[in-house]
Amino acid sequence: MSPNAEGITTGKSPGERKVTMKALVNDKCEGSGLCADTCPDVFEMNDSGKAAVKVDAVPEGSEASCRQAATECPLQAIEVRE
Ligand code: SF4
Repeated sequence: MSPNAEGITTGKSPGERKVTMKALVNDKCEGSGLCADTCPDVFEMNDSGKAAVKVDAVPEGSEASCRQAATECPLQAIEVRE
């Protein structure tokens, strides 16, 4: 029996990298409300009638709708960072 080889057991596989997606709304927003309809887990309308991001990070499972909201924003006011 040989002793264990160094570096074999690290607990996590290197492929298990956790990616955090973030969304931002920039000044171009004119408050159509489309994003809040498309991805209500991430976007909401604030008191000024503009969209706001209500979470620090896009929740798991909402990534696709968040990207869709960014793509469909008529003013390209949504930036998605991954
Ligand atoms: S879809 Fe774009 S313009 Fe419309 S509320 Fe959202 S960020 Fe603003």
